[in-house]
Amino acid sequence: MAFLDGNPPERLCMPIVDHIQSLGGEVRLNSRIQKIELNSDGTVKNFLLTNGDVMEGDVYVFATPVDILKLLLPENWKEISYFKKLEKLVGVPVINVHIWSAGGTGKEALLNISCFFKSHDEYYNPNQSMLELVFAPAEEWISRNDSEIIDATMKELAKLFPDEISADQSKAKIVKYHVVKTPRCLIDNHFRSVYKTIPNCEPCRPLQRSPIKGFYLAGDYTKQKYLASMEGAVLSGKLCAQAIVQDYELLVARGEGRLAEARI
Ligand SMILES: Cc1cc2nc3c(=O)[nH]c(=O)nc-3n(C[C@H](O)[C@H](O)[C@H](O)COP(=O)(O)OP(=O)(O)OC[C@H]3O[C@@H](n4cnc5c(N)ncnc54)[C@H](O)[C@@H]3O)c2cc1C
Repeated sequence: MAFLDGNPPERLCMPIVDHIQSLGGEVRLNSRIQKIELNSDGTVKNFLLTNGDVMEGDVYVFATPVDILKLLLPENWKEISYFKKLEKLVGVPVINVHIWSAGGTGKEALLNISCFFKSHDEYYNPNQSMLELVFAPAEEWISRNDSEIIDATMKELAKLFPDEISADQSKAKIVKYHVVKTPRCLIDNHFRSVYKTIPNCEPCRPLQRSPIKGFYLAGDYTKQKYLASMEGAVLSGKLCAQAIVQDYELLVARGEGRLAEARI
């Protein structure tokens, strides 16, 4: 395994932004899609953003979590089986728990995982450990207060590592903690995160190429060999790009020629 030597926005996102910009692309933040507007033939006319901007393109890639896609799906598309199957994919809330403890848990591997999100220097301290844990599924816990969540986490950790951790903190003592909850979705006010992996949902994961010409999906929930994960999300992006490249001739024939000049 390899871990980032810094925080993801700086060490993961910025290099991607730099790459896109170096090729003449633009990255717009805080630009949420409010509506997918359609042509009379059911293909995408444009994406209307919440700030009123209208985005037109030759190819549209929709890479939000599955619940957002379902909420923004145009009426005309809802009965198409490719989209209808999405009903089975439902996001569940997730809580991220960060615990700094004195006395050390002695768990090198877990200590390393913390570096995935934060810088090395802060946590390579022989007298302290930092654990970062994903608490999921968290439907029953998302509305509870932080101390209840920490108590439940410590009880679970004490079961897993009885030699190093006890729920009453007589072994490793909590120095500080931080609880991060998946935020409420702005559209339907529910807590959403990665889709819940339940039996029979695998056949409902959509391919990146949709039946709507020029409209593609990317995201961890789409069809790829991993479950919902960062690897899965990256792979879905590659598969989506491959589908667009394969469809290039068709897209040029259908578009107004803008694609013919573009380099993919
Ligand atoms: C707490 C937590 C811990 C995790 N830990 C790990 C881990 O250790 N390892 C791992 O592999 N995976 C982990 N995951 C899972 C991983 O983060 C996801 O699987 C991955 O980020 C999914 O990527 P994605 O691109 O499909 O979707 P996202 O990363 O969710 O990206 C979707 C994007 O769509 C944007 N968006 C939403 N609505 C709109 C809209 N209306 N218009 C335009 N854009 C919109 C969002 O802002 C977001 O940027 C974790 C997830 C959580 C919640």
